[in-house]
Amino acid sequence: MVAPVFRFAPSPNGYLHLGHALSAMLNFDMARAAGGRFLLRMEDIDAARCRPHFADAICEDLRWLGLLWEEPVRRQSAHFHDYRAALERLEALGVIYPSFESRGEIARLVGQERSALLQSAKPYALRLDMSAAFTRAGALTFVETGGGPRGELGIVTAMPQLWGDVVLARKEVPTSYHLSVVMDDAWQGVTHVVRGRDLFHATGVHRLLQAVLGLPAPVYHHHRLVLDPEGEKLSKSTQATSLRALRAAGANPVDIRRMVGLAPE
Ligand code: GLU
Repeated sequence: MVAPVFRFAPSPNGYLHLGHALSAMLNFDMARAAGGRFLLRMEDIDAARCRPHFADAICEDLRWLGLLWEEPVRRQSAHFHDYRAALERLEALGVIYPSFESRGEIARLVGQERSALLQSAKPYALRLDMSAAFTRAGALTFVETGGGPRGELGIVTAMPQLWGDVVLARKEVPTSYHLSVVMDDAWQGVTHVVRGRDLFHATGVHRLLQAVLGLPAPVYHHHRLVLDPEGEKLSKSTQATSLRALRAAGANPVDIRRMVGLAPE
């Protein structure tokens, strides 16, 4: 039997907080319990916001928590070429189309000769043609072992239609969260996607892309979110719950496990 593969996939655009700690530790614990592998992936496609020093800090915080992952760490920014190839496949299947910056841009282009239009037509984004992709894939389900926002559990119907014609690539970032996460999970042989419940609905789009591209479907586990005292989702910009601030204030990794509800008080 092939060992299960789990991954933690943060974006290095800030410091990790308690919510990330819960996600990373759950992945690590579940991989251990299943005799599986634990991978780390830096989702750094957004060059305007991601910084190498945040990637280094993430590794430092995870090591401090006592987590070990397989090297090398996959960095999405090193794989733009591969995402391009995936976009070409989607294009050949007729399920993506270029869209333009704004209505104004379209109005400007419409006034031109067709050849001039094609020359000056610089698509701003590539969008998934949701209805074409949906027709091609048919009804889809996924296995949920954590729980969706409405308690969805077990075999769940994927609802990519909720997203409309989602953007899969932009001029300045030639891929997107949805495309790169799906391609990387397949390339890395990920069998179990364990991540926050806020990404539950994204799974519909991911299942659709997997089906259209002939990729295997991992098992999904969307876990509860760590909330602040006001009941809001934690944010990377709130320093108080960052792992480094808590460490500086004297917390140890067992305290962090308690704070996120993975160890008894
Ligand atoms: N990079 C995403 C984030 O930091 C997580 C992606 C995933 O787990 O699918 O929210």
